[in-house]
Amino acid sequence: MDFGHTADETRFRDRVRAVLQSPDVVAALRELHAAEEREPDERGLYRLLGEHGLLGVDWPRRYGGQGRTAAHAAVAVEEMMRAGVPDTLFVNGVQTVGKLLLLAGSEEQKRRVLPGLAAGRCFASVLYTEPGVGSDLSALTTRAVAVEGGHRIDGVKVFNLKSGITDLGLCAARTSSEGSRYEGLTLFLVDMRAPGVRVQRLDTMADEQFHRVGLEGVLVTDADVVGAVGDGWALLAEALPLERTGFDFALRAERWYEAGCAGLTSADGGPDGPAAAPWLADVGRHGAATAAARLLAWRCVGSVGAEGLDELRTSTAKWYASEQAAAVARWAATRHGPDAPPELAALLDSAYREAPGLTLSGGTSEMMLQTMSGFLLAAESADPYAAEVE
Ligand SMILES: Cc1cc2nc3c(=O)[nH]c(=O)nc-3n(C[C@H](O)[C@H](O)[C@H](O)COP(=O)(O)OP(=O)(O)OC[C@H]3O[C@@H](n4cnc5c(N)ncnc54)[C@H](O)[C@@H]3O)c2cc1C
Repeated sequence: MDFGHTADETRFRDRVRAVLQSPDVVAALRELHAAEEREPDERGLYRLLGEHGLLGVDWPRRYGGQGRTAAHAAVAVEEMMRAGVPDTLFVNGVQTVGKLLLLAGSEEQKRRVLPGLAAGRCFASVLYTEPGVGSDLSALTTRAVAVEGGHRIDGVKVFNLKSGITDLGLCAARTSSEGSRYEGLTLFLVDMRAPGVRVQRLDTMADEQFHRVGLEGVLVTDADVVGAVGDGWALLAEALPLERTGFDFALRAERWYEAGCAGLTSADGGPDGPAAAPWLADVGRHGAATAAARLLAWRCVGSVGAEGLDELRTSTAKWYASEQAAAVARWAATRHGPDAPPELAALLDSAYREAPGLTLSGGTSEMMLQTMSGFLLAAESADPYAAEVE
C-alpha cells in the first residue's frame, strides 16, 4: 500500500499551510484560543476558511467546492487541525451532512445547502441520538407524520454538538411502524430556527457542550426529505462511515502525543538525560500507535467509492484512532501531572476531559468491534479454505 503523496498533493499541502499562516486566519485562531468561554463561537473562523476554499475541497465546483480529490481534502483537514482549527463544525457539517447530501441528496438540496456549508456560512448538526437510543438507531422513536406537502416531526434528540449555533439539522425519524424496526426510518433536513425546535444545553465535562433538541410539531416540506421516505436505514449505513474516517481522532492523538513528549528531548532530538529514561517505552509505544492511527485514517481516503466509504476500513480507523487518542490524552496528562508547563496545562486539561467521549462519539468502540468482526467473519465463511491455508 502506498501512503506517499503525489507532487501535486505536496504542493497543495504547502498552499494550505500558507493560508493557515495568513494574517487573517492567524488572528482569528489567536482570538478563538484566547477566548474566556469554554466553547467560543467558531463561525467567524469558518467563514475565513470557506473564503480560502478549505472546506469543500473535494466537492464539485457547481456546489461551491474546489473540485479536488479526497486526498487533497484529507490534506486540508490535517493541516487545519494541526494549526488548531476546532473540527466539530467541519466533521458534522461538511464531512457528515454535506457528504451525505452529495451521495444521496436531491439536486435541489445540493444547490440549496452545499454552497453555504463550503463557504462557512451555513452550519449543520447531526440529530440521531435520542434518550435511551444511541448505538441501535433502529429503535429510535422520533415520529414524522405525513401532512399536506411534507411531514410534522415530534421527538427529542440528545447529545448533539453545536446545535446552539447551527442552521440545519440532519434528523433521523420514524415515518412508519409497519414491517421490521429497520424499515420506516427517514432522514430529514430540519431548519434549526423553525417553530417547534427547542435547543437546550446539556452540560458535560468536556469543553464542547451537548444539546437536547426538542422537536414539537416541526413542519418540514417534501423537499427536506433526504433520499426517499423509508430509506433512512440504508442512508444511515452510508452516513455513519462518513463520520468515522479516524482523522479527527488520529490528529488529536498526534497533538497530545507531542504535548506529552515535551521536555523529553535535548536540542539534538535525543532523550534528555536520566529524566527521560522512565518515559522512553511510553514514548515509543504511543509514537508508533499514533502513527498507525494516522495511516489507518489515510487508508479510508483511498476507499471512497460510489456508495461512500468502506465500512470495514472506517470502523477499524475509528476504533483504533479513538482508543489511541484517549490513551495518549491520559498518558500525556499523567506524565506532566501538576508540573505541566503553563503553555501546555490548558491543552492537557482539555484533552483529559475530552478523552472519555472519544470512544463513544460517532459510534462506540464496542459497536466498531462488532462491525469489524461481522465483516471478518463473513469474509472467512466466504472462503472455506482460509483456515487450511493458514
Ligand atoms: C463527544 C460526543 C459527541 C456526540 N455527538 C453527537 C451528535 O452530534 N449527534 C448525535 O446524534 N449524537 C451524538 N453523540 C451521541 C453518540 O452517538 C452516542 O452517545 C453513541 O452512539 C452511544 O449511544 P448511547 O449514548 O445511547 O449509549 P448506548 O448505545 O446505550 O451504549 C452504552 C454502552 O453499551 C454498549 N453497547 C451498546 N450496544 C451494544 C452491543 N450491541 N454490544 C456491545 N456493547 C454495546 C456501548 O458500546 C456503550 O459502551 C455524541 C456523543 C459523544 C460522547
